[in-house]
Amino acid sequence: MAYYRVNNNAQPNGDHEVHKTGCNWYPTANYTALGDHSNCHSAVREARKYHTQVNGCYYCSNECHTS
Ligand SMILES: [Zn+2]
Repeated sequence: MAYYRVNNNAQPNGDHEVHKTGCNWYPTANYTALGDHSNCHSAVREARKYHTQVNGCYYCSNECHTS
C-alpha cells in the first residue's frame, strides 16, 4: 500500500496528476489526499471523484500514465 495525492493544479493539458508518496512531484500545497492504495489504478479511480481529467504521474505511476 502507498499513500496517494492528486494535484488540484492542472497540468498545461488539463490533466490532474496522481502521485505516490516519495515522488519528486508529490504535491505539497494544493492537493486532495486520496488515501492508501495498493496500486495507481484505484488511486486514479478515487481522484476521478474530484476531477474529470485525471492521469497517473509519468514517474511514480507510469502504469496509469496515458498521455
Ligand atoms: Zn509522481
